Amino acid sequence: MARKYSNKINKIRTFALSLVFIGFVIMYLGIFFKTNVVVMTIFMLLGLLAIVASTLVYFWIGMLSTKALQVICPNCGKPTKILGRVDMCMYCREPLTVDPNLEGKEFDEKYNRKRNTND
Ligand SMILES: [Zn+2]
Repeated sequence: MARKYSNKINKIRTFALSLVFIGFVIMYLGIFFKTNVVVMTIFMLLGLLAIVASTLVYFWIGMLSTKALQVICPNCGKPTKILGRVDMCMYCREPLTVDPNLEGKEFDEKYNRKRNTND
């Protein structure tokens, strides 16, 4: 990937969107197994599962963004949302922190790793 960091909410949104595509691709692959109803059904169910999962992820983003702290980005002046201790501005990718201990320090995504292990 070309960009090193991105806003977490945007990242999750991208993940949810790719799940939808993966779901459709899996379902599409199932068409090639038309002769085998069992295999086709498995593909269809897996595809459906991916799409259902993406819906859940979208729902989760909705929950997260209501909990996320909304701040005005000091760099571009647009309202953005912060998840966790450090996050990027959604618009200009300015690193932002809500932890005064980290203020002025070099932005490092590992500050989030303590709690967030699925990255
Ligand atoms: Zn900004």
